[in-house]
Amino acid sequence: MKIALLNPPFRLPGDSSRWITVPPQRYGGIQWVVATLIDGLLAAGCELALLGAPGSPARSGLTVPDVVDATDTELWLANNRVDVVHDHTNGDLRPARTTPPTISTFHLTGTPQYRTNCVYVSEAQRTGAGSATAPVIRLPVNPERHLYTDQKQDFLLFLGRVSRHKGAKEAAAFAAAAGLPLRVAGPSWEPEYLTEITTQYPGTVEYLGDVGGRTRLELISGARAILVMSQPVRGSFGDVWSEPGATVVSEAAVSGTPVISTANGCLPEIVPDVGLVLPDSADGITAEAAEKALAALPQPDEVRAAALQRWGHHRVTREYLAVYERLLRGDVWL
Ligand code: UDP
Repeated sequence: MKIALLNPPFRLPGDSSRWITVPPQRYGGIQWVVATLIDGLLAAGCELALLGAPGSPARSGLTVPDVVDATDTELWLANNRVDVVHDHTNGDLRPARTTPPTISTFHLTGTPQYRTNCVYVSEAQRTGAGSATAPVIRLPVNPERHLYTDQKQDFLLFLGRVSRHKGAKEAAAFAAAAGLPLRVAGPSWEPEYLTEITTQYPGTVEYLGDVGGRTRLELISGARAILVMSQPVRGSFGDVWSEPGATVVSEAAVSGTPVISTANGCLPEIVPDVGLVLPDSADGITAEAAEKALAALPQPDEVRAAALQRWGHHRVTREYLAVYERLLRGDVWL
């Protein structure tokens, strides 16, 4: 099967002459999802074109044309035959005119621009978008792209955008209550928020900036636990945040690192087998409650086994292939 994958084209922070690639140089949730799906689809024998990520590494079965907007996509599709278009851009790279059979994976909070033939990444996200029957396919993880260790170190990790809706401050509150240092990795596009956290929790928070490569992998696998404290607040995305899929949960779990989360969005669906969902926001958590939460976490081998079983990229790829087949049979869903 020939598939065109549409990836959101974003300039690389700090170097606007380059694009965030697939896989991404540093921060990039959607880019990691697309990269992992590429691994699975190539292994399944598909032929792929990746649009919207110039500069990404091509390999056997994968071409990377220089496409960065919907006009480029339209032109490329006019000159290249594919069976399926798989949109990860919420319509941004989709031509206005008819394309080959197209599905989209919705990666945001709220309602997708194209509701027809949309795949959601959690039940919470699907419900929020007003659908009861569209497929839910979890975010995949490729174990070969991660490190696993059962030798955890005495630090907690926050990995993601340092923003209010991602709960970096609540992660700091939890770490302070637990008496453990919190390493914070991720881009800080709201510098006053980062200052608020480092000022309020000076002895707890160590800010590492936006990390990639081996540093990212060692942080994920070395942490005692990863804190995913997403909050239902309004942000630049326009809606009240409801965590749609949380790439970091599957990345941590496959590395044997348990997850401590809030109950926001998809987290109560995906965290229980690989960690613990806190009953309340961690703000105001006591030392006793934090210690109890850490003591209740599953072991690294259990966490990894659950991740492989639920989110392994070959399994998720098979689910997408089944959806592509539905699409090619002419099925339409909302
Ligand atoms: N990430 C990274 N470096 C950082 C912080 C985050 O590579 O310093 C990656 C992280 O591993 C994950 C992605 O960025 O793959 C964030 O994705 P997630 O779905 O968790 O968050 P969102 O896309 O909603 O911001």
